[in-house]
Amino acid sequence: MEHDAFDKSEIALLGLGDMGTALARAWLVAGQPLTVWNRSAGRAEPLAAEGAKTAETAAAAVAAGGLVVVCLLDDASVGEVLADVDLTGKDLVNLTTGTPAQARARAKWAEERGARFLDGGIMAVPPMIGTPESGGYVFYSGSRALFDAHRGALAVPAGTRYVGADPGFAALHDVALLSAMTGMFAGVSHAFALIRKEDVVPADFAPLLVDWLTAMAPYAYGTAGHLTSGDYTEGVVSNLAMMVEGNSTLLRTAEEQGVSAELLTPFMALMERRLAAGHGEEGTTGVIDLLVR
Ligand code: NDP
Repeated sequence: MEHDAFDKSEIALLGLGDMGTALARAWLVAGQPLTVWNRSAGRAEPLAAEGAKTAETAAAAVAAGGLVVVCLLDDASVGEVLADVDLTGKDLVNLTTGTPAQARARAKWAEERGARFLDGGIMAVPPMIGTPESGGYVFYSGSRALFDAHRGALAVPAGTRYVGADPGFAALHDVALLSAMTGMFAGVSHAFALIRKEDVVPADFAPLLVDWLTAMAPYAYGTAGHLTSGDYTEGVVSNLAMMVEGNSTLLRTAEEQGVSAELLTPFMALMERRLAAGHGEEGTTGVIDLLVR
């Protein structure tokens, strides 16, 4: 495994919420020397029993570790917790979810305080942490030197994917994937709403949904091809004109079933605008051009 022979120098972990606790446990199981701190001290107690050292203050925790990992609620809490902490010579890894702009600003802030900085976007939920077969991983961006120096230790809780020196890129990749997931959740919610009052067993319907969405997911590769070549008609087998026509069936069915179409209509409106501009031979890639301001 990637982390079998990693350098086990002390890690300071700040933030022991659900995610921070999962990270701590993964490192402790791997024999990683770990100092933990949390605003509410009670959350550190079970970890102390499992072998973690506990620090009274964030500053004391940071002083104990060469590698400092923060996993707090949001960027504001990171600023609050590290405000008066000496970061000189430290390697700071921020696993707190934020925007690309927040990550870029935090990188500048850390560098001004004498620290190397790496931002991380966690693509996993806590039960996936420390479980390599779960497929969970973390996007990293920022200091390549920091990433290379601590890659082994970082690979213990979850897989690692370094996506560039721009510290905003981990958050950008993270949020882009979560945004796509949000669209999928919307579609699944609408589909279940359509069958809700009918004699269709949700547990029987779920695998049909999963199989269909899985079969359709490679559509993203076609979109990438269009964006690369600039030819949005390349390989299109379901053209926009046909799909817009089909949308009226989706809307009529929603009405017949007594289901609000509010999750569908924003995307359909964009498809219609692109069609009205004369792009009926394309698929849906042209919608992206309408979204980018
Ligand atoms: P929790 O709500 O469980 O924990 C939040 C943590 O932040 C606690 O340690 C809390 O301390 C601390 N905190 C909040 N505000 C402050 C503050 N002002 N000063 C000091 N500490 C503060 O969240 P998670 O652990 O689940 O999430 C942590 C990060 O991980 C988030 O950015 C989240 O988006 C990200 N993440 C979480 C996932 C999940 O499924 N849980 C998945 C992917 C990413 P206290 O205990 O004292 O309240």
